[in-house]
Amino acid sequence: MKEVAIIGGGILGLAIGYELSISHPNLNLKLFEKDDALGMHQSGNNSGVLHCGLYYQPGSLKAKLAVDGIRQMIAFCKKNHINHDVCGKIVVASDEKEIGSLDNLANRGAKNGLKGLKFLNSEELNKREPNVRAKKTLLVPEEGIVDYKQVMEVMANYILNSGGRIYTNNKVLGLSASNEKSTIIKSEKNEQAFDLVINCSGLFSDRTYTSLTFKKSPIKIVPFRGEYMHIADEYKHMVNHLIYPVPDPKYPFLGVHFTRMINGGREVGPNAVLALKREGYKNTDFSLNDTFDSLTYKGFLNFFAKNSSFAIGEFLSSFSKSAFVAKSKKLIPDVEEYMFVKGGTAGVRAQAISPKGELIMDFNIIKENNQIHVLNAPSPGATASLSIAKYIIENYI
Ligand SMILES: Cc1cc2nc3c(=O)[nH]c(=O)nc-3n(C[C@H](O)[C@H](O)[C@H](O)COP(=O)(O)OP(=O)(O)OC[C@H]3O[C@@H](n4cnc5c(N)ncnc54)[C@H](O)[C@@H]3O)c2cc1C
Repeated sequence: MKEVAIIGGGILGLAIGYELSISHPNLNLKLFEKDDALGMHQSGNNSGVLHCGLYYQPGSLKAKLAVDGIRQMIAFCKKNHINHDVCGKIVVASDEKEIGSLDNLANRGAKNGLKGLKFLNSEELNKREPNVRAKKTLLVPEEGIVDYKQVMEVMANYILNSGGRIYTNNKVLGLSASNEKSTIIKSEKNEQAFDLVINCSGLFSDRTYTSLTFKKSPIKIVPFRGEYMHIADEYKHMVNHLIYPVPDPKYPFLGVHFTRMINGGREVGPNAVLALKREGYKNTDFSLNDTFDSLTYKGFLNFFAKNSSFAIGEFLSSFSKSAFVAKSKKLIPDVEEYMFVKGGTAGVRAQAISPKGELIMDFNIIKENNQIHVLNAPSPGATASLSIAKYIIENYI
């Protein structure tokens, strides 16, 4: 029997565990999570959107896995009675300049195989989202919303019911020894030998890579916090579906958007603020180690030198409610500060940056001997988690 370790109990570690339990039922699977519960980081603090592959470079791994991924995720939700709703999304061009970018997105989406893409006329827009002001609007009917916490719960139960083990409060510290056949990893509570180790540690993927290989990671994770605000219940009616701006193609972030949540609420966000702590969910959170790590990385300095106005603008929106609201007014001009409830949620994105300072857009998965490392799995990593898991199993195991 093969011994397999998965490091990280976010949606990717769980999806890989779930798919492995189906495709390789004789494996002895052990999943290690450092916290006392699963899905506490990116996977439990995201927008809850099912993305279908509109934005991604045709031919990229992300485009392929997102398009397959949404179909697999919806089938999984149907089979397991998980709350989800394919409510559709609109992408809004707010000025003349954005019209060209929206047209490019529509072409990209069509090349990626999306179905039902359609530009809405003003009557159609008015019927769907009467509060939105737009120069041009693209409807993406395949997208929707889902309860990712429920998704993870179902995956975890499947792993356990198939004989796998999930250890919470058990951080993997690194490699004790290895040879061609096996890798002994040391965790907070034990030391065990495995035939295969899969690193899905999200915000720590680069550090886990180094602790398991003793090599410098080819990328560095720089944390970008995304903050949300709730829309007070009495103004919920201003948002019916998912309303997104045309994103700046320079960045992997989609821009502040309005989201109908699966619990019936409405949120606006997230911004993309450089965080001073990898798991820093408040704008006052600070880690000397994480900040030093970012500031001494030449990739980060190169990024900051080229993108300082973007970084400063996002930083301001973290401290000023009016700066945050100004971003959302672009889509719905009638929203006002008093309609937003303070103290919304936040998530921190694990964004890989290359030494040249490029934000790495595509998924990045590498194999080193008997170790597989998921080094970069940004949005839509939750939507695509099942297809990423299958891709890894088919190509690396
Ligand atoms: C603000 C925000 C909005 C997003 N919106 C969407 C969206 O709407 N739709 C979508 O599809 N995607 C979205 N994403 C992206 C998506 O959430 C991620 O791609 C996905 O959750 C990545 O999952 P993961 O398992 O790799 O990481 P994580 O969920 O971060 O899990 C990694 C886990 O590893 C654990 N860990 C780390 N180090 C160790 C160690 N040494 N030992 C043991 N455990 C360890 C951590 O505690 C954590 O539980 C969003 C992300 C963010 C942050």
